[in-house]
Amino acid sequence: MRATLMYGAGDVRVEDVPDPRIIEPADAVVRVLRSCICGSDLWPYRSMPATGHGRRMGHEFLGIVEDAGPDVPGLRPGDLVVAPFVWSDGTCEFCREGLQTSCRHGGLWGGDLDGGQGEAVRVPQAPGTLVKIPADVDEALLPSLLTLSDVFCTGHHAAVRARVSPRTKVTVVGDGAVGLCAVLAARRLGAEQIILMGRHKDRTDLGREFGATDVIAERGAEGIERVRERSGGAGTHAVLECVGTAQAMDTSLGVVRDGGVVSRVGAAQYTEVPMDFGTLMRNITLTGGVAPARAYIEELLPGVLDGSLQPGRVFDRAIGLDQTPGGYREMADRQALKVLIRP
Ligand SMILES: [Zn+2]
Repeated sequence: MRATLMYGAGDVRVEDVPDPRIIEPADAVVRVLRSCICGSDLWPYRSMPATGHGRRMGHEFLGIVEDAGPDVPGLRPGDLVVAPFVWSDGTCEFCREGLQTSCRHGGLWGGDLDGGQGEAVRVPQAPGTLVKIPADVDEALLPSLLTLSDVFCTGHHAAVRARVSPRTKVTVVGDGAVGLCAVLAARRLGAEQIILMGRHKDRTDLGREFGATDVIAERGAEGIERVRERSGGAGTHAVLECVGTAQAMDTSLGVVRDGGVVSRVGAAQYTEVPMDFGTLMRNITLTGGVAPARAYIEELLPGVLDGSLQPGRVFDRAIGLDQTPGGYREMADRQALKVLIRP
C-alpha cells in the first residue's frame, strides 16, 4: 500500500510500504476513508533532523474495518469506525478514568507503526480504541466525524479543563483549527462570552459562525488590553491556549481574570511558564494537556451526526494521498487552514 513518510524538515514522501495485517489477537485492519494533516505535524515538518529512515505520519483517520483479530468481538469487516489519535486498551486504570492518553498498554500512531496518512492502518488494541459509527451516514458528514479523531476533541478538552459553563466568559487564543474547534466547544458548553484572538479574517469569520462573540486581531500588550476592555475590565474566567508558543502563554496569562483558569492544548513549544509571586497573588490555575479524545467521542458524536455541530468546516482543502507533500507545504505556508486527505 501507499503511505506518507517524513524524512526530515520539509521532506515528506508518499511511498510503498508493507500492507498491514493482523499481528496481535486484539488488532484490526482499517482501510482509511478520510485522514488529515494536523497542526502538530508541522512542528517536525519545520525542524525534524534529516534521517535515512522515514517516519510514518498521520494520527487522525476514519475508515472501514477490513479484518479483525479473534479478540475483537465487537467489530466486523464493513464497520465504519473513527480512531482517536492515541490507541488504548480501554480497560486499564487510566482508561477507566477517562485518561486514555496515559493508557498502560497504549501508544501513538506513526513512527514505525502505521499512521493515518496512508491507505490502511493496523490498529492495536482495537476494542478499546475504535468507535463504531452508523455505516449508512451521509458522506458529507465524514469530515466532521474525522475531527473526532483529534482536533474537535482537543478543542473540547481545552474547554472542559477550563471548566467552561453557562456562567463563563472565555478567551480562545489562536485561530488555527484547534482554536476554532475550542470556540465551537465553548459555545456547546454554553459560554456567556467567547472572545477569539486571531488575525486571519477568513478564520475568525468561521470562528464567529462557530460562536465567537468578539474577535480581537491585535496581539501582545495591545491584544491583552482589548480583551480586558471587552470582558468588563478584569479578563475572562477561562482562557484556552490553542497555539503552543511562549507568546500565546504570555497572552493567556495577561487576559485571564484573577481566580481564572488557563487551559493549554497547543502542542507546547515552550518549557517554562511564568509562575512568579505576581502570578501566585492572582490565584491562576494552569491546566490542560493532551486530549484523551477517546473519552469524548461518544459524547460529541450525536451533535455531529445530527448536523448541529459542524467542526469539519475547518477543512478548507481536500487532496488525494499522493498530494500529501503539497498539503504539508500549504499548511506550513498558511495557504490552507487544515488539509483533508482522501486516500
Ligand atoms: Zn488503558
